[in-house]
Amino acid sequence: MTAATTGPSPLAPAWLEYPEDPNALAPQLWASGVQRNDDGQIAVQGLGVSQLARDHGTPLLVLDEDDFRGRARAFRDAFDEAFADLCGGVDVYYAGKSFLCTAAARWVAEEGLRLDTASGGELAAALRAGVEPAHIGLHGNNKSDAEMRRALQAGVGRIVVDSLDELDRLTELAAEAGAVAPVMLRLTPGVHAHTHEFIATAHEDQKFGLSMAGGLASQAGQAVARALAAESVDLRGLHCHIGSQIFEAEGFGVAAEKLLGFLAEIAAEHGVALEELDLGGGHGIAYTPADTPRTPADIATTLAGVVRGACTKLGIRCPRISIEPGRAISGPAGFTLYEAGVRKTVTVDGADGTTHPRRYVSVDGGMSDNPRPVLYEADYSVALASRTSASGAVLSRVVGKHCESGDLVVKDAYLPEDVGRGDLLAVPATGAYCHSLSSNYNMLTRPAVVAVRDGRARVIIRRETEDDLFARETGL
Ligand SMILES: *Cc1c(COP(=O)(O)O)cnc(C)c1O
Repeated sequence: MTAATTGPSPLAPAWLEYPEDPNALAPQLWASGVQRNDDGQIAVQGLGVSQLARDHGTPLLVLDEDDFRGRARAFRDAFDEAFADLCGGVDVYYAGKSFLCTAAARWVAEEGLRLDTASGGELAAALRAGVEPAHIGLHGNNKSDAEMRRALQAGVGRIVVDSLDELDRLTELAAEAGAVAPVMLRLTPGVHAHTHEFIATAHEDQKFGLSMAGGLASQAGQAVARALAAESVDLRGLHCHIGSQIFEAEGFGVAAEKLLGFLAEIAAEHGVALEELDLGGGHGIAYTPADTPRTPADIATTLAGVVRGACTKLGIRCPRISIEPGRAISGPAGFTLYEAGVRKTVTVDGADGTTHPRRYVSVDGGMSDNPRPVLYEADYSVALASRTSASGAVLSRVVGKHCESGDLVVKDAYLPEDVGRGDLLAVPATGAYCHSLSSNYNMLTRPAVVAVRDGRARVIIRRETEDDLFARETGL
């Protein structure tokens, strides 16, 4: 085993700084209860990762439940305060798809949030957890009749309709059931937010929502007219969701102004003031030290200013606002604990014609517990968790154990040179869209999920077993 050269590498992406101290934890990446214990290992609320790994195995998704709840409360309180004198406060719907299980559904309900679901399964989780049906929303661009019937039967608070076809089917299903469907219409305001920019386009080339290009003659305008005319539909308001992992306020502001303008057009044409406006989720979080997320208070204040200005200009009363954060609540609350195995150093041709070493550290999970690097080229960070090291750092790539060369966990990170077999590595900000996107690829069993509250760890989802892998096989 040759030692790789420590020090900054020309292979590193521009955003990745060489760490002065590779043992230091950048606070914005970690749940509030995470720090290094006196013995050097990473701990959550004082519980060291070595003990967690011994008790629960690796890979392990560790959730700081207090941090999760704190972020939920922060959104609720900040938006309530910023919008109090505008529309009496805000309804915060936690986007369940980011991380959902019975326990998590209960946490959000206990913290005074509502819950968004996007399938029959997520709706089942919400109901099973005992979330008040009036506080559940149902999303989806292709809801089945069965999903809509179930939502009507359960009495969910809102069904967010995504197309004219769906509006017609829901109208019929509600009439058949003798129910009145509470409907929000999902519109595409022509604002497509990218990670670090947004572009306003006249036309949205994507599968979600009703186009509002062309004002009241648009699909959205037709949907409003149909929904208002349908006796089995109670049109509550309008909805938009402009994307995910957004850092700038402008995208949300432009979308809010467009939808408020549309509400004013609807009021002028139909004489109806729709009561609700949902501005969606998508608030960005830090995956690397280069990411600079804004606080809920900052987002709320900016948005309240935009909404206040637009309502005044348009001469309309402010509708009840709702938002749908997912990642910003569940993401930073979690980290994934892996055990390091094989390591290799390869030689890579640099742009300058010289060659440079790159360290590969393989861990005992990968794209089956976090497919985001493969799906979205998402960047993550990593820290040596079971100890500190006095070694210098080397540019490293943390990879999984799957049969894909694209199976990256952390594409670029500086790790201490001596990291090797048996060390525990922790990848922060994996609370969102990791467990919910996980798979059994290569017949790996999915990790357990442990929630830490008041200094105590509790398994909320047990590790999958080999029996689980074969549980659905029949006819043998
Ligand atoms: C995914 C989604 C959200 C949550 O997005 P985050 O990036 O997790 O905040 C909110 N609303 C809708 C409609 C979504 O599809």
